[in-house]
Amino acid sequence: METLVRIIDNDSDMVAFGERLGAILAAYNGALSVHLRGTLGAGKTTLTRGILRAFGHTGAVKSPTYTLVEAYEFGARRVYHFDLYRLGDPEELEYMGIRDYFIDRNLCLIEWPERGEGVLPAPDLTVHICIAGDGRELELQAPGSALQSLLINL
Ligand code: ADP
Ligand code: MG
Repeated sequence: METLVRIIDNDSDMVAFGERLGAILAAYNGALSVHLRGTLGAGKTTLTRGILRAFGHTGAVKSPTYTLVEAYEFGARRVYHFDLYRLGDPEELEYMGIRDYFIDRNLCLIEWPERGEGVLPAPDLTVHICIAGDGRELELQAPGSALQSLLINL
């Protein structure tokens, strides 16, 4: 699987990059699961803010650290922003009815997917964010060729 690497220097470029990525995800005709990996403060929520902008959300994006998931509706499209940092046990996701999120043309953005390992379905895209000096290094991996071919222009 090919890895796409991008250096993003600051917060506003991160939002802009998220918006470009979000435009690709918004145009995709199917359910998508995106795993956002990286330490606390890497920029996962900032990237999410950009992705949501591409769907038309201009308001704040609060971290669903305690609620685990925040829902956004754009007509028939739904975006679910998960933050599993405080998930005690992956099995809690079963009680949430996690499977029902990955349907229709829903987009699931998942911070701390490692906390849900064994229960979460395999991702269509993984974005791994590493702190690199004052900026960030992003590694994008899309196992499926359909999405992968859309991402090369990012
Ligand atoms: P996370 O959700 O991964 O914990 P946040 O998105 O809350 O991280 O971002 C943490 C901090 O990193 C924020 O202050 C944000 O402005 C900053 N930040 C985000 N992206 C970048 C970037 N590409 N370069 C520099 N700082 C960034
Ligand atoms: Mg966060």
